[in-house]
Amino acid sequence: MRSQSDNPRACAVVDLDAVRESVAALVARAGNAATMAVVKADGYGHGMLACARAALDAGATWLGVAVVEEALALRAAGLTVPVFAWLAAPGEPLADAVAADIDLSASAPWALEEIAAAARLVGRTARVHIKADTGLNRAGATEADWPSLCEAAAALTAEDVIDVAGVWSHFAFADSPGHPTVRAQIGRFTDAVTIAEKTGLRPQVRHLANSAATLVSPDAHFDLVRPGISVYGLSPGPDVGSPADFGLRPAMTLTARLALTKRVPAGSGVSYAHRYVTTAETTLALVPLGYADGVPRAAGNTAEVLLAGHRRRIAGTVCMDQFVVDAGDDLVRAGDEVILFGPGDRGEPTAQDWADALGTINYEIVTRVGARVPRGHLNPTVAQGRPS
Ligand SMILES: *Cc1c(COP(=O)(O)O)cnc(C)c1O
Repeated sequence: MRSQSDNPRACAVVDLDAVRESVAALVARAGNAATMAVVKADGYGHGMLACARAALDAGATWLGVAVVEEALALRAAGLTVPVFAWLAAPGEPLADAVAADIDLSASAPWALEEIAAAARLVGRTARVHIKADTGLNRAGATEADWPSLCEAAAALTAEDVIDVAGVWSHFAFADSPGHPTVRAQIGRFTDAVTIAEKTGLRPQVRHLANSAATLVSPDAHFDLVRPGISVYGLSPGPDVGSPADFGLRPAMTLTARLALTKRVPAGSGVSYAHRYVTTAETTLALVPLGYADGVPRAAGNTAEVLLAGHRRRIAGTVCMDQFVVDAGDDLVRAGDEVILFGPGDRGEPTAQDWADALGTINYEIVTRVGARVPRGHLNPTVAQGRPS
């Protein structure tokens, strides 16, 4: 079932039923809170539109993205649900966003002013979520700057230029359950909401929870949760739990077909700089994926793949377009399937295994799968009688 689709060389096969199953589990966890499926960065590498539709099928009612272009692409595809885009530098095309009914974020007065200017230009009230920095020290207004941001937002609300649809913030340590900052950030967020309300703002949604907090910190759910990585069936981190612990199912399987096999003698140096040398006569197998396709160069001699039923470590340096696997005496031929990672059902490594091997997080493994690798979507949403 999870074999490659039409592409003969390589494919990231994404099972949208796994996305639906995972989102249904998140919606259940969210309880009374609504669920915003985060589909930024091309749906964490899984294909934004197909995954957005599958998430909506399964009960998500909002979509979240980082940047305006992503939000506009969702609208261009005909999706009409609330869409929130939270990252913009000065001078971005916010009028297009306001015209397309995209919810925008403001962490500072200049952002409110740019959104207000866009709203006046378009002749439409802009929906804004003002962001409090509750301890991540990334986006958001500091505690000191929060009251003046609320006052500026209240003034624009009184003019009907903006509508403060939300108050929000983001966690620093949600993937370390029980970390003291989680409780502290919930407390600061509650205070920020109180200050906003005292300023006269009436936000419709308060939201703070990413995947980890959606899964394990019900106190952080408020009105809306913003899971991302878990939409794609992956756990936000090993300390939170395994996907199965939460009813999540990893959606992506990255596969390729061998481009060449050959017998070589013992003592053969393999790939650039001969960082791998064969210890016996063996069969080398060439995999047509490289760092241009998102296979990290650091995976050389480190990460494993599944070939002919065996886990095999990548032999030597990962090149831009290809890498080599030592298949030993296995009978492998050009065209045979190799699985880099997947849900693990067939004994293949998982994205989490790759992350562990490389000292990174599974987010980076799936999101960096390159544009040259086609996404093959299984079980797409059928709308108006045709798959979309
Ligand atoms: C990416 C992101 C999320 C989703 O985080 P996950 O850990 O993938 O669930 C939520 N909110 C913001 C602001 C983000 O940048």
